[in-house]
Amino acid sequence: MRCFITGGAGFIGSHLSEALLREGHEVSVLDDLSTGSMANLDAIRRHPRFTYRVDSFTNVPLVAEMVDDADVVYHLAAAVGVKMIVRSPVRTIETNVRGTEIVLAAAEKKSRPVVIASTSEVYGKSPDLPFREDGDLLLGATTKGRWSYACSKAIDEFLAHAYWKERELPTIIVRLFNTVGPRQTGRYGMVLPTFVRQAVRGEAITVYGDGNQRRCFAHVADVCGALVHLVRPEAYGEVFNIGSNEEVSILELAHRVRDRAGSESSIVTVPYAEAYEEGFEDMPRRVPCIEKIQRLLDFKLANKLDDIIDDVIAFERARGPEAPRRNVARRRPVPAVPLAAPSGSR
Ligand code: UDP
Repeated sequence: MRCFITGGAGFIGSHLSEALLREGHEVSVLDDLSTGSMANLDAIRRHPRFTYRVDSFTNVPLVAEMVDDADVVYHLAAAVGVKMIVRSPVRTIETNVRGTEIVLAAAEKKSRPVVIASTSEVYGKSPDLPFREDGDLLLGATTKGRWSYACSKAIDEFLAHAYWKERELPTIIVRLFNTVGPRQTGRYGMVLPTFVRQAVRGEAITVYGDGNQRRCFAHVADVCGALVHLVRPEAYGEVFNIGSNEEVSILELAHRVRDRAGSESSIVTVPYAEAYEEGFEDMPRRVPCIEKIQRLLDFKLANKLDDIIDDVIAFERARGPEAPRRNVARRRPVPAVPLAAPSGSR
């Protein structure tokens, strides 16, 4: 199969490229390197079944050409990271909505199946845990930048469904939950690479809010394993949650990272208003129901949280030093807490 990946030089896109190549497919990538990087493609850049173009998805003729040369399209190019979203809402909305419009229109002309990467953010503040694909979405006020991301991704989903229902374009939507692993950068605010980097360097580990918010982290290799096998007629017109359902609090994550890195970093809390913006809303819990994807294919979470943390620590150590970053916020030390197993964790 010839697979075209937008955003293929990004964290998830580069792992997906590798996974598809391992399965014997051909891969072509389009990436403008705004958040992705050529270094992510180091292992495959010269692979005989791999090609890439550094350009924007706004280059419509190029997108049309690359869609034409493919059997299936994975649309991963999007604005990423809550910090980037809060700081650059115009770029977020335009990137997410325009990119999907262009890719779907090009795919329709050639009737190519399209996988649209959406996000668990679309569930917003919904209290209906675990989140099911047919559940209601609960977003906050439009004055709060965070929700622009969720809303722009929800528009992408509506558009994909519209193409399927009205124009019979095969589309598959995946809502990716917190996906982590080697190559993810903390630059756009993601928690695990940030904690690991801080721990490895002996800097204070910055827990936002009180740290009682809970997330489930899946290894990018497990997520890409599902993406590789997803494109099949039973999935057309459907939405799938993809992620782990093993919950951890962010404070516990900080302790686990520090312990596994053998670090002496302190763990500090940073108010949300300082970390993001005044009035920032975080969701206290985010847990996917993954029964639907498990009914479709053999979706396994081979990597447990400690394996993932170890992988990210090894990557960070191998990567070496980067330019020092500015401290972002006032910090309050957190007293060392003994770690009990979080209630509801699996
Ligand atoms: N977070 C944190 N410290 C950081 C970065 C993030 O405590 O340096 C928190 C963030 O506020 C959120 C959780 O970690 O509650 C996960 O953040 P991330 O941006 O990785 O993903 P999200 O689940 O918010 O999309």
